[in-house]
Amino acid sequence: MIDFEFEPQALKQTLMYHTVAERMMRPISREYDEREHEHPWDFWRTMWSASQNLGPAASGAEKPSKGAAGAANGAPKLRNLYTCLSTEELCWGDAGLFLSIPNPGLGGAAVAAAGTPEQKARFLKRFGEGEPKWGAMAITEPGCGSDSAAVTTTATRDGDHWVINGTKIFCTAGQMSAEKSEGFVVVWATVDRGAGRAGIKPFVVDHHTPGMTVVRVENKLGIRASDTAMIVFDNCRVPADHLLGSAEVKPTGGFKDVMATFDATRPIVAAMAIGVGRAALDFVRDYLTEHQVPIRYGISPRRLTAIERDFMDMEAHLKAARLLTWRAAWMLDMGMRNSLEASMAKAKAGRAVTLITQKAVEILGPIGYSRKVLVEKWMRDAKINDIFEGTQQINLMIIARRILDYSSKELN
Ligand SMILES: Cc1cc2nc3c(=O)[nH]c(=O)nc-3n(C[C@H](O)[C@H](O)[C@H](O)COP(=O)(O)OP(=O)(O)OC[C@H]3O[C@@H](n4cnc5c(N)ncnc54)[C@H](O)[C@@H]3O)c2cc1C
Repeated sequence: MIDFEFEPQALKQTLMYHTVAERMMRPISREYDEREHEHPWDFWRTMWSASQNLGPAASGAEKPSKGAAGAANGAPKLRNLYTCLSTEELCWGDAGLFLSIPNPGLGGAAVAAAGTPEQKARFLKRFGEGEPKWGAMAITEPGCGSDSAAVTTTATRDGDHWVINGTKIFCTAGQMSAEKSEGFVVVWATVDRGAGRAGIKPFVVDHHTPGMTVVRVENKLGIRASDTAMIVFDNCRVPADHLLGSAEVKPTGGFKDVMATFDATRPIVAAMAIGVGRAALDFVRDYLTEHQVPIRYGISPRRLTAIERDFMDMEAHLKAARLLTWRAAWMLDMGMRNSLEASMAKAKAGRAVTLITQKAVEILGPIGYSRKVLVEKWMRDAKINDIFEGTQQINLMIIARRILDYSSKELN
């Protein structure tokens, strides 16, 4: 059963993240939106030293073993759920800055989902010490996005190494992970083209490994404080034990690690969307209050004004998305399979934030459209939640497959 009573420690932590969002992120939000490729080092250093003391709250999800709802290594037992709470707060502050915070990120989520216990300890340990570091995950290629099984990047065994060749695009935190810190990029490559999905394996490529080159950092519509890189792998050699998990190509295995990573990260992306949506909703509420436009709850729908109806509609979408998100994260914490719920949360939250931020601009009129306030920025930041970690359409298809019990071959 879901328990909506959060532990006092979680509430205290959520409040702390809200303070960070309000006092540290909002004041620099516009600046790093406009100066897209500049780096907020003061903010990063503060967040890094905070994570060294408190544990990386927004460092990616963790998949416990089945039935292992208890606290491991002193970590809170609802780690994924609480990560969603902190993510919502930080993205209320600024989603682009949130994505730029030094931590293992999607690369860490892939290590957690696919690595052996020894690999998890080895690769994630570095994030507990030294200078700020980033992790990234590279699946998408020029000819492979939604159909992530169409990966063409290859990994060929050569003695004690794997040799990686291929091009990855749209890699979040790719530049910081590959070039500017002692981080890593988890690259998905095929070890056996003939084996299809089963041949696709994740490899940890350490920062500055010869043969890994960031060739471009994208200019984007939104989340402009986050770097999004194109990375080329040209005879890039990594030690054999950098392949996460087993090298064995099993007919039914391999690709399930990609899916396990998404099951863990989709609720976090949904929480990001909710944070941005709540920022817009809060702004509209404050603006209407300031201009003495009331929002009357509990009256007959026939008597509602158009603004009241719009506002309540926005609130309802946000709350529905939040409940789906918490459920998906809670299931992960309980060691339950959550693929359906993770896709539901992601699809609902992506659609909700797009709708809410567009409505906010619409309700506010010229002020909403101007750069004097952040609402237009939130509208731009919102759309990515409908694109990465599986687009709106792909998540709806996954939901349909799960409900109707179709395989990916039967419904695609
Ligand atoms: C800012 C940003 C950051 C990103 N970060 C990362 C990252 O860190 N790592 C990474 O690996 N990737 C990352 N991506 C890539 C992202 O995951 C892909 O862009 C996404 O999966 C869509 O793939 P695509 O771009 O190839 O689009 P396509 O797959 O070509 O899709 C184009 C359109 O067609 C629709 N479509 C495709 N197939 C179907 C279908 N079967 N049924 C119905 N509709 C369909 C899609 O929904 C979409 O609307 C990022 C992208 C962006 C923009």
